[in-house]
Amino acid sequence: MTTQHIETLVVGAGQAGLATAYHLQRLGRECLVVEANDRIGDNWRCHYESLRLYTPAKASGLPGLAFPGDPWSFPGKDDIAGYLEQYALQHDLPVRTGTRVTALARRANGSGFVATVGEDILTCDNVVIATGTFGRAPYVPDAAAGLDAGIRQLHSSEYARPAQLAPGVTLVVGASHSGCDIAYEVAAERPTILVGRDTGRIPVSWESRGLHVVLPVMFFAWRHVLTRRTPVGRRMMKHVRHHGGPMLRVKREHLAARGVEWIEARVVGVTDGLPRLDDGRVLDIANVVWCTGFRQDFGWIDLPVVGEDGWPTEYRGVVETEPGLFFCGLAFQYSMSSTVLPGVGRDAEYLARRIAAPARHRVRVGG
Ligand SMILES: Cc1cc2nc3c(=O)[nH]c(=O)nc-3n(C[C@H](O)[C@H](O)[C@H](O)COP(=O)(O)OP(=O)(O)OC[C@H]3O[C@@H](n4cnc5c(N)ncnc54)[C@H](O)[C@@H]3O)c2cc1C
Repeated sequence: MTTQHIETLVVGAGQAGLATAYHLQRLGRECLVVEANDRIGDNWRCHYESLRLYTPAKASGLPGLAFPGDPWSFPGKDDIAGYLEQYALQHDLPVRTGTRVTALARRANGSGFVATVGEDILTCDNVVIATGTFGRAPYVPDAAAGLDAGIRQLHSSEYARPAQLAPGVTLVVGASHSGCDIAYEVAAERPTILVGRDTGRIPVSWESRGLHVVLPVMFFAWRHVLTRRTPVGRRMMKHVRHHGGPMLRVKREHLAARGVEWIEARVVGVTDGLPRLDDGRVLDIANVVWCTGFRQDFGWIDLPVVGEDGWPTEYRGVVETEPGLFFCGLAFQYSMSSTVLPGVGRDAEYLARRIAAPARHRVRVGG
């Protein structure tokens, strides 16, 4: 067993963790990023093959490195993975991959934290939890367990391509971005039913020139209007954290054109091994793709930081009740843009400054 002390430990080398490390490094603060996956970007590589960003390359760069390629192209999942790897390399960020933090607690003397990493111990003054916007623990409703064994079931995190599915009708549960993308893709090959609530839509075609006008306005609103400081932002925060955001690229008319039957209902139970909806309908299907999202799993953090709604009790990522503990990359950490590449850099900079400020103060006082 080894023990190492680091000023700031960043848990997770996705966009949030890397942007935080970038800003800490610029402020001259020591940090180490630990990442459970073997390779930076694996959190993107594992998504379904057809995933393309809805944010164009020009808006998807992190601070200090523009996203390469045509500014109005929409990068695929492997492009983003490669970009994140390049980002860490270019800025020489201290990342240790293949390293999962399995426990985090206060040090016995009350100052700083102790993190367990396999057999080893890391101690730190600050810790930034950057383990995912909505969490990374796949969530499926209880009904999944009661479905007939002959029905092929996949969570969206396991879905890669339509060929994984059995012949016959496919039910996609959850009309989120991934749900709409997957229903649209599967419907090209087989009968598809989408079940889920309508979360609204941004009324512009993602393939049109009109997007070049609408997107900057949308990002301005996401960054400066829909924030935790405004009533409309706080309402949006609840909606996004619990129901997801509005439809962007794939919309109702695209799904209809492909013959997707969209039922605005919920799967609430099982009848004779088949899924039953809250309107009483029972669906005779061969496959289910559960696009029902993820849950935050903070069970490894031995500190009272999770509120009744399952989200950390923070504001802008700062946990006032646990000095030195921060979160980065949470959905609506500060604004609607916190959830995406174009916004995470601002949140990361805010946290890095918060972390560096007391340290600078200590130097001034001590020196
Ligand atoms: C279908 C879909 C479409 C999307 N489209 C867009 C888009 O168009 N534009 C956009 O900007 N964003 C998009 N997003 C993604 C959004 O930006 C994600 O929320 C993003 O991946 C969040 O980055 P993150 O760094 O907060 O977390 P993640 O990317 O989830 O990274 C967290 C990292 O933490 C690691 N980790 C977790 N627990 C531990 C632990 N205990 N110890 C060590 N490491 C740990 C994980 O392995 C992971 O690598 C999309 C996402 C999806 C699913």
